[in-house]
Amino acid sequence: MSIPFVDLKAQLRSIEGEIRGAIDTILENTSFIGGKPVAEFESAFASYVGARFAVGTSSGTSALQLALVSCGIGRGDEVITVPNTFIATTEAITQAGASIRFVDVEPVCYNMDPNALEDAITAKTRCILPVHLFGQPADMGPILEIAEKRGLVVIADCAQAHGALYQGKKLGSLGRAVCYSFYPGKNLGAYGDAGALVTSDEQVASHVRLMVDHGRVEKHDHTIEGFNHRLDAIQAAILSVKLRHLEGWLEKRRRAAALYKEKLHGLPLILPKEGEGRRHVYHLFVVLSEERDRLRERLAAKGVATGLHYPIPVHLLKAYRHLGHRPGSFPHAERVASQGLSLPMYAELTETQIDEVAGALREALHV
Ligand SMILES: *Cc1c(COP(=O)(O)O)cnc(C)c1O
Repeated sequence: MSIPFVDLKAQLRSIEGEIRGAIDTILENTSFIGGKPVAEFESAFASYVGARFAVGTSSGTSALQLALVSCGIGRGDEVITVPNTFIATTEAITQAGASIRFVDVEPVCYNMDPNALEDAITAKTRCILPVHLFGQPADMGPILEIAEKRGLVVIADCAQAHGALYQGKKLGSLGRAVCYSFYPGKNLGAYGDAGALVTSDEQVASHVRLMVDHGRVEKHDHTIEGFNHRLDAIQAAILSVKLRHLEGWLEKRRRAAALYKEKLHGLPLILPKEGEGRRHVYHLFVVLSEERDRLRERLAAKGVATGLHYPIPVHLLKAYRHLGHRPGSFPHAERVASQGLSLPMYAELTETQIDEVAGALREALHV
């Protein structure tokens, strides 16, 4: 038995004709930067996530950087985010010139804890940056309410939650800017690096559009300094094909998650829980166990690949030594980091494979 953690080849096989056709068209047109494929994807993606505008970017990381800069966050400002995320979230804050302030996460859903938020706000706080981790929306109602009351900007990191819903709403409208990654393994993945920023604020959208392309309005006319953070045409064409399949894939992920929950029920593991009114899209299916490392080894020996997201919470990474945090600073985030084990999860995962993973786990747990 051999069960991969993700199976990008299985997904490619199911859409191979469409993908090769889309790439061929770009090759024939030799129009690799910008143009129709990018504009078409941006418009389809904006409407899918419920925002007025989408701007394609070179990665999720660049989308986060541009979001902060375009919302006017910079030197002297403080941005509040969570410690259990990928370092891209906090890199973007530093690169915008702002400083990072962490709040802990909810003990059950592992996302930004709105109850911890108000105490973390200082006179310098300008922005709240929740992360919709593992595919589950953060509790955006109270987060947006606190932001509104305190006059703060909300920028969301939605790199893991394409298609998730909060109180029936797509996440693209919850925040001034919402940032997506299309890293190949994400729920909507390109065949290389790619990302997007969505917003319903016209000023933010036009500023980001300038920033991704050297501040250029048209050829030779640069009104500001920007970056080269563009989404390329081949990735955009691939993403347009895949976007049409996304809802079907998310349903399959949710079905796989339901099967896992049924088959792992009663084992000494903490299973993922969906917060009320939150449609989790299971980018990752993360179980918690105090024996995480031992389980991971036993599963590997049985051919079941697993992942860790993320074993060192951001506040304890060497890169952030200067912030002076210690183990114990954010206990809920630290618990997910030390006990979380990501099981194989992708749309093509079969019930037989899920049975095998569950069997291997049962054996490893000696039950
Ligand atoms: C993947 C990811 C990013 C970064 O996206 P890239 O496209 O790899 O730059 C940022 N935040 C989170 C939570 C992610 O999972």
